[in-house]
Amino acid sequence: MRKRHGGPAFNDCPTILIDETMIPIPLGERTACTVTSKAAKLVRCEQCGRHYAYLAIREGHGEGMNLLWLRGKAAKSEAQTEAEAEAREKLLAAIDPVPCPGCGWFQSNMIGAARSLYLSWLSRVGVLMLGFGLALVFFFLLGFKAFPDSEGWTLALRLDLGAVVLGALLIVVRYGMARRFQPNQLPEATRISLGNAQAMIVEDPKIISAFSTRGSEA
Ligand SMILES: [Zn+2]
Repeated sequence: MRKRHGGPAFNDCPTILIDETMIPIPLGERTACTVTSKAAKLVRCEQCGRHYAYLAIREGHGEGMNLLWLRGKAAKSEAQTEAEAEAREKLLAAIDPVPCPGCGWFQSNMIGAARSLYLSWLSRVGVLMLGFGLALVFFFLLGFKAFPDSEGWTLALRLDLGAVVLGALLIVVRYGMARRFQPNQLPEATRISLGNAQAMIVEDPKIISAFSTRGSEA
């Protein structure tokens, strides 16, 4: 048994697996997987009592560790299993704002989802304007300081600050509008047509009972 400088024998040292984040030696690679799953959701309309079904779609993400590049298949399979489990969990909790195709009613548990989707593009535009505007403010300020008499830099800085303010305003205004949005105040014909585009009435008691047994009724 070899010893060095009177230290412990090498064979006495315990074997430790050290995570790759702790030492700069790669121990393998992470395999990532994203799956898209679909599930039919059954709803009993609180307005007219009819059942209807729509298709919910959710994504799941998973990762697996291919330690020392020795378990590529197992890592992929782990990543897929984790991704599928996440998608399944999201689907179980999924509530999409789909009105009843019969009477056009948005169910009370759908109002939150309808509000977060309402004019969401306005928020995205606001975030882009705010983000890019703020990112460029420093650049235009530098130009303005270097050439205070330049009309070009002054105008660029003004426009940029205007974009920042407008972006912030869009986000706030859209938030206020979404909070006040009442989807059931949309014209009935619009709601019915929205419902018909995304869902179908289910009348067969066997199908309804199958959904109830499976626990997918929302
Ligand atoms: Zn209804």
